[in-house]
Amino acid sequence: MAIERTFSILKPDATRRNLTGAVNAAIEEAGLRIVAQRRVRMTREQAETFYGVHRERPFFGELVESMIAAPVVVQVLEGENAIARYREVMGATNPANAADGTIRKRFALSVGENTVHGSDAPETAQVEIAQFFSGNDIVG
Ligand code: ATP
Ligand code: MG
Repeated sequence: MAIERTFSILKPDATRRNLTGAVNAAIEEAGLRIVAQRRVRMTREQAETFYGVHRERPFFGELVESMIAAPVVVQVLEGENAIARYREVMGATNPANAADGTIRKRFALSVGENTVHGSDAPETAQVEIAQFFSGNDIVG
């Protein structure tokens, strides 16, 4: 298996409830390394670009509003098979369907407030990392 990098967001429901440390502990316990991290307030434009693939979906407006409602923590995670591994650690999009022990099962409030984002493929990971970090910001 290859060492990969994936892009992660601790979403507003996590920062609002003071859960960034708890989520980071789950990430690190899963063997993923946090190699870049920054707390930011996303602009509407950034959120719309980031979730652009969902622009036509009925929940797009709600999704963008939720991402700009409070600060987020953007991260780059590194590890073996990091993209799939993090998706596994996050759990299903809807916490009602998430496996026991996953971040979303433990912390998410609803499908709209589901605590974390993780890239879904190498191509999207690369684009998403580049939207928020330059090479010098990532220290492996
Ligand atoms: P993410 O991209 O945030 O990691 P995901 O890949 O598990 O999540 P996507 O299908 O990409 O799921 O959906 C992006 C985000 O849109 C979800 O994390 C969720 O917050 C929101 N979302 C998805 N489906 C719904 C829905 N039916 N109602 C409300 N929000 C939704
Ligand atoms: Mg997604």
